Amino acid sequence: MNNLTSVWRMRHETRVVSRRAFASGLLVMLLAAVALMSEVALAQERTAFENVRVIAGDRGDAMTNQTVVIEGQRIVQVGASDAIRISPATRRVDMTGKTLMPALIDTHVHVNQPRSALERDLRRLAYFGVGTVLSLGVDTDNAPFELRAQPVQGAARLLTAGRGITGPEPGRETAPYWVTTREEAVRAVEENAKRQVDVIKIWVDDRGGTVRKLPPPLFQAIIEAAHARGLQVSAHVLTLEDARSLLRADVDAFAHSVRDREIDDAFVDLLRHHHAFVLNPNLSYRGEPTDLTWLERLIPSDDFKSAQAKNAPRREAKASFAIQAKNLLRMRDAGARIVLGTDTSFDFPGGNAPWNAHIELEDMVAAGLSTSEAIVAASANAAAFLKLKDRGLIREGYQADFLVLDGDPLENITNTRRIADVYLGGVKVDRTRYPQ
Ligand SMILES: [Zn+2]
Repeated sequence: MNNLTSVWRMRHETRVVSRRAFASGLLVMLLAAVALMSEVALAQERTAFENVRVIAGDRGDAMTNQTVVIEGQRIVQVGASDAIRISPATRRVDMTGKTLMPALIDTHVHVNQPRSALERDLRRLAYFGVGTVLSLGVDTDNAPFELRAQPVQGAARLLTAGRGITGPEPGRETAPYWVTTREEAVRAVEENAKRQVDVIKIWVDDRGGTVRKLPPPLFQAIIEAAHARGLQVSAHVLTLEDARSLLRADVDAFAHSVRDREIDDAFVDLLRHHHAFVLNPNLSYRGEPTDLTWLERLIPSDDFKSAQAKNAPRREAKASFAIQAKNLLRMRDAGARIVLGTDTSFDFPGGNAPWNAHIELEDMVAAGLSTSEAIVAASANAAAFLKLKDRGLIREGYQADFLVLDGDPLENITNTRRIADVYLGGVKVDRTRYPQ
């Protein structure tokens, strides 16, 4: 190779190299531009809700003149409006006069299956401001597990107790495990644990003497097996005597309260010694009509008519409510952590009555809880029971699951119904029509 050739080659190579360098430089610039654009896009996703009253979810008061900043699906900043610096790219929403509180968490629902019906249930719950629900023990389908793993936007998030456990209950719901031996009881827990259920549900109720209820040795075995696998047990219970033996067996929660009679001092004492007992009072109908007019523009007229038809005076219901109200307050005083649970169920024509959380909150206050106790039951307490570490509070790092209300529910609990907007995972729920 002569010198000329080698010089030419060198030049050529240099040119090739520089062309390559140019191309890769361009690529770097392009990538940088893309990164910058997506950063801008991210920044645009930041929204600041300004000058709003905030109910955090774990305390009794509200904080006024707050700003809540969300980015993507999370809350990234909460603080006094005059102390928070808002970056120029942040979308700002003035919320003067509004109240922001955590989306409701319902620890006791039953959902329809298959998947299409279940999704509709969860959308309806979201429409009424319920952000998370626990399906309590009649899930035979895969759909609840799929939806738990991959929630649908605009729908409430679902947790599930899988198939609950009870004694044989011929003629009743066949979804639960019907067990008669320790082995069957433990196997039912194991099968649920394998499916990674969120809670183990049991029923201890002879249904007015018509079935053999789960006896203490069996529920003891279930509770032990569940605890050994890190699972809590929530019990459907009716009578004081069953509630007593369940507490002795170290049950974690009641999915209903004691309803046959007032609890006694011995029971209160047992409760005081329980490490962290959770009570879902799941109050029954108060026996006197409640104002349902707020529902009229929110649901189809046939559903509204059915709801109104059930909304009639019933004296025996009134007496039962009075017992439950007393028991709720005594159990609260004995240290039980109160959570919201509606037992929202198939009993309503066309499926669930997804607005029940608002009725239950009203009932809890009618029973004697303060408005803030009722709200904490539906937010921080419910989240703690369900081990949800990033829901149930308006706080940095938490999921942006919240309600924007036109009234302050601390002043009047029925203001939880005056929903302006629902946000779940930072996305505004479409509430223009009732989900079908
Ligand atoms: Zn139930």
